[in-house]
Amino acid sequence: MREVNDERKAVRIDAGVLAAIHAEAAAAYPNEGCGALLGRSTGGRRVTASLPVPNTEAGTPRMRFEVAPRDYLAVEDEADRRGLALLGFWHSHPDDTARASKTDRAYAWEGLLTVIVSVPGGAPGEVIAWEILGPDEPFTPVPIEEGSTGAPVTVLSPFPAS
Ligand SMILES: [Zn+2]
Repeated sequence: MREVNDERKAVRIDAGVLAAIHAEAAAAYPNEGCGALLGRSTGGRRVTASLPVPNTEAGTPRMRFEVAPRDYLAVEDEADRRGLALLGFWHSHPDDTARASKTDRAYAWEGLLTVIVSVPGGAPGEVIAWEILGPDEPFTPVPIEEGSTGAPVTVLSPFPAS
């Protein structure tokens, strides 16, 4: 029993990290972008950094993403170096909602967040965090608290264009 799997536990994502994820999701459009989420796992999950991870899914990069084993290991090394925990991965859904797909569920790992960013027409929009509470469980949404405001929200509005 790991504390991280307590039900209905929110995740706090620092505003700068959310902005970076939005920027990377827009840059990757019309392909899926993806990255790793690093931060603190004890005393409430808090994402303090994101690391870009190359999308190595060569066949259909618009439809799904894949993290190569070497990139996964590099991410864990970098987390260790920074004294942070790997909390999960984010990826974008170009021209689709932030709902998790069957493929997303098949690739989900217990204990790691799956954060999805909707990118309709190239402009990043809603962000939803998902997790599974057991190997055979469906995805459940995880409330996201934006670091700077602390207001708990499940779905975040698009950032204003700059
Ligand atoms: Zn997906």
